[in-house]
Amino acid sequence: MSSLELYGNLVNGEWTTSGETFEVRNKYTHEAFANVAKADKALIKQAIDNAHETFYNHKLSVTERYNILMKAAELFAERKEEIAQTMLQEAGKTITDARTEVERGIQTFIAAAEEAKQISGQGLPIQGSPGNEEKMAFTIRVPVGVVCAITPFNFPFNLTAHKIAPAIAAGNTVVLKPAEKTPVSAIKMAEILMEAGLPKGFFNVVNGFGHETGPVLMADERIAMYTFTGSPTVGKMIKNNTGIRKVTLELGNNSPNIIHHDVKDLDRAVQLVVTRGYSNSGQACISVQRVYVHEDIYEDVLQKAKGVAESLIVGDPSLDETNIGPMIGVNEAERTENWVNEAVAQGAEIVTGGKRDGAIFHPTILKNVTEDMKVMCEEVFAPVISIVPYNDVDNVFKRVNDSNFGLQVGVFTSDLHLAMRAAQELEFGGVNINDVSTFRADILPYGGVKNSGVGKEGPKSTIEEMTDEKVITLYI
Ligand code: NAD
Repeated sequence: MSSLELYGNLVNGEWTTSGETFEVRNKYTHEAFANVAKADKALIKQAIDNAHETFYNHKLSVTERYNILMKAAELFAERKEEIAQTMLQEAGKTITDARTEVERGIQTFIAAAEEAKQISGQGLPIQGSPGNEEKMAFTIRVPVGVVCAITPFNFPFNLTAHKIAPAIAAGNTVVLKPAEKTPVSAIKMAEILMEAGLPKGFFNVVNGFGHETGPVLMADERIAMYTFTGSPTVGKMIKNNTGIRKVTLELGNNSPNIIHHDVKDLDRAVQLVVTRGYSNSGQACISVQRVYVHEDIYEDVLQKAKGVAESLIVGDPSLDETNIGPMIGVNEAERTENWVNEAVAQGAEIVTGGKRDGAIFHPTILKNVTEDMKVMCEEVFAPVISIVPYNDVDNVFKRVNDSNFGLQVGVFTSDLHLAMRAAQELEFGGVNINDVSTFRADILPYGGVKNSGVGKEGPKSTIEEMTDEKVITLYI
């Protein structure tokens, strides 16, 4: 029997560790550091039974929800280093990124707690419609019921927080299926929520692989809503298999960024596009990927970008000075290597990087790329950026929009007219002016168009998605 810490499934307030287990490995050393019990079909059904029964028979007042979420935020702060160390191991995040993510998760909980107090409907002007002069009408927002949350590996704490905290704030019950590569930080979140006073049944955790747990979760009609963050392939499958129940999908992107010749601070723009193309080893859905640079400043940007990329420290993620750690697995780094090699075979040139050591892919800049190469038209999800010249705004807008994705875009310019055109014409869920596609403040609405998803996250928006608007009419 292995001496590794064994983590369980949470059903009806009890942790159970029976049955098959799977290992979670440190993504830098590749050593196993935890075992996690798999939830079988019967246990998943029990978790849904429990979430369903709890939703119909137990309620938390708004004040109780607020107090629990705020208490959890306080406990996360006390255990910040432990949670950060967990993500360092299971996700291979640099310790600096891991600590930042815990801070962000805490703020997500606090924002959701505050939003719990703001949930309200609207008054409806029914008396203006002929025949309804003696009526009043208004709406209230009611929780949807059982929410199933399925999360990805790349931000295992904050992206889980973005689903769990608003679900509880809205008065729902939850069944969470965390990413199998990084389940431990979500398990710790559940432990802390219980410690913060969340009664049993409001939050259940079932662990396992997506292809095994997914079909059981999708088939159960007692789940009222699915909130998924992950790949477009799995997202589409969830949408196609959940009938007319509610779904929100936060999916991928091949994030474009434009640097126009009139950018006010070129060094800042270059520093941002390069570092935010590589943070979390490029494994963020809004990671800088395609960089369009006006031809007047193209050569200058290439040289500066090369300098920034080569100044970054790559390696052991546990060291404070490391900027870029491993990718989530050797297979993902190999996939990246293949894509870069394929681009080179098609005519691209490596400005810097292009090397792989195990799961580490070195920060890479490509030039001479074309839009039909995978590194441009698909989601690279790795520390690889491509820098491309343009000379005409209409043309670059067209190229930026000519994508199956539409999550976020960054535009650097000091021309207000151009900035407003970008805001109007670029087909994305978010347009960041004078910042990169990667910028996200957790309180903002966040979500994409096209294959980047449906529905919005951000505590206020998620609560809207996780509640139904009920119309009340009254004859006076
Ligand atoms: P993934 O789709 O492989 O896995 C995500 C989750 O889905 C995991 O929990 C997995 O177990 C589960 N899953 C897999 N197969 C399933 C199935 N058949 N049924 C139900 N669930 C199943 O994604 P990933 O590799 O963990 O994450 C990377 C992807 O996530 C990238 O495409 C990235 O762009 C996207 N992402 C998007 C956002 C956003 O907010 N838009 C944020 C982070 C990541």
